Amino acid sequence: MEETKPFRVLLYYNYVTIDNPEEFAAQHLAFCKEIGLKGRILVAKEGINGTVSGTEEQTQMYMDTMKSDPKFADMVFKIDESDAHAFKKMHVRPRNELVTLRLEDDINPHEVTGKYLSPKEFFEAMQKEDTVIIDARNDYEYDLGHFRNAVRPDIKTFRDLPDWIRENKEEFQGKKILTYCTGGIRCEKFSGWLLEEGFEDVSQLHGGIVTYGKDAEVQGELWDGQCYVFDSRIAVPINRKDHVIVGKDYFTGEPCERYVNCANPECNKQILCSEDNEHKYMRSCTDECRVHPRNMYVKEHGLTEQEIADRISKLEEERLVQQ
Ligand SMILES: [Zn+2]
Repeated sequence: MEETKPFRVLLYYNYVTIDNPEEFAAQHLAFCKEIGLKGRILVAKEGINGTVSGTEEQTQMYMDTMKSDPKFADMVFKIDESDAHAFKKMHVRPRNELVTLRLEDDINPHEVTGKYLSPKEFFEAMQKEDTVIIDARNDYEYDLGHFRNAVRPDIKTFRDLPDWIRENKEEFQGKKILTYCTGGIRCEKFSGWLLEEGFEDVSQLHGGIVTYGKDAEVQGELWDGQCYVFDSRIAVPINRKDHVIVGKDYFTGEPCERYVNCANPECNKQILCSEDNEHKYMRSCTDECRVHPRNMYVKEHGLTEQEIADRISKLEEERLVQQ
């Protein structure tokens, strides 16, 4: 048995009507702070979507209290063990939508959504003919890890997904469509939208990648790389049978699963890079970002203008040699 860690990270959502999201959010924030949780929760008229961290006791108290409310009695909590809090602060924010799709006609997953597949069913469905697996997440999430042979939508945010599907319609027409996302919340709407759009055979991974990775039978099989999560852990393992690295170092293309943010705060782009390359390239995605006046790497390391110029010309020289 693995050793039990002192903290828990919870991931959960529920599409259920919340009449006054502002009022609910304010009360819920006070409640979470009282318990001592940290994390990020979104509240909308259509429901709740949260990820929080705390000790075993704190998270248990949270789940018990939530489940005592009929609204959330059937809410599924995905539970990860953790060495520490996965967030720095506690936020509860009212929103118009739980996941930002901004559709002309909003989708209510209680009315229309793709067929729910258990991890085992999804595992089997992935291997059938005439099947296409669509990753419903963003490009940087896909790049760290994804289901083998899944399609990578070329999108930066979820709201661009419907347009991208329309532009690439031929790829999916007449196929059995499987969709998946981190915890399942995005697919509830996305798979519903696909059905409304005229695709007939649409299924979704129930509970998302996180549930798939915990399933005792499939053990994450056919998942390559790691799963991107929106907390300080950034990457969590999924495939417990064979771990393949699919992430590639932004600078060298070598296998890499370490995300950093570009040190130019106005860019902030997420790039995969090794620790060595982080230093070599000043944790910046371009020369433009390297010389940005507010570059964080420069600040952290107290580099002078001359030192920055020297480093950049050294990188230039290397580029010339490689050409
Ligand atoms: Zn940058």
